[in-house]
Amino acid sequence: MREKVERLVVLQAIDLRVQEMEREKSGIPQSIASLEEELRKEEDKFRVEKAEMEKLGKDRRQKEKDLEEETDRVKKAESKVFEIKTNKEYQAVLREIESAKKLNRQREEEILEILEKLEQGQKWITGAEKDLEGKRKEMQAQISGLKQKEASFEQEMAGEVRQKEEQEKEIPVELLSKYRMLAGKRQGIAVARVAHGACQACHMNLRPQLYIELQKQETLILCPNCSRILFWDNGSTKAERA
Ligand SMILES: [Zn+2]
Repeated sequence: MREKVERLVVLQAIDLRVQEMEREKSGIPQSIASLEEELRKEEDKFRVEKAEMEKLGKDRRQKEKDLEEETDRVKKAESKVFEIKTNKEYQAVLREIESAKKLNRQREEEILEILEKLEQGQKWITGAEKDLEGKRKEMQAQISGLKQKEASFEQEMAGEVRQKEEQEKEIPVELLSKYRMLAGKRQGIAVARVAHGACQACHMNLRPQLYIELQKQETLILCPNCSRILFWDNGSTKAERA
């Protein structure tokens, strides 16, 4: 019986490794998707900001054009002032020129404000472009690392499955199904080691008589408390490796 239980110990170690690898592997696609999503968000933010700057540049050109046209109109009006015959008309034209000039000063101020924003925006874009490039590289490296990990898990798992099948061949069907049933009910731990006279899964102390029987391991012994298959480690090589 000792040899069979030792095989179960080895099998359990393989099952636990496979379980852990499957758990890690199943999280990889989600990790890749969230990295990609994060990058997409950064790129969107950058695009929005860049479009904003382009719009501002258009505004600036329009305002400069308006200013130029209005300045021309004022100049023309000023050059024709002397042709005016009546004082009333003269005053009216002067008022018009004055208000057009005021509007132009306002345009100049607006253009200056836009220029300032454009300068800041350009600085942000230059910095953000560099940041984005760095992030893109970093994330791509992370993603390809994850993909590599996924591939190596598959390889490792295939190896573990082969070992597992080898172990299973040597274990009687009844014992194997008992192991499976217990593993299903006890989070994968169907076999518990006994150390210092206690089950290492539930920490219950064994009665001395049971402990002696276990050391002989002539029959299958279950923990009276947690019903796991008990195993007493006598330093045998097979179980040591697990
Ligand atoms: Zn126990």
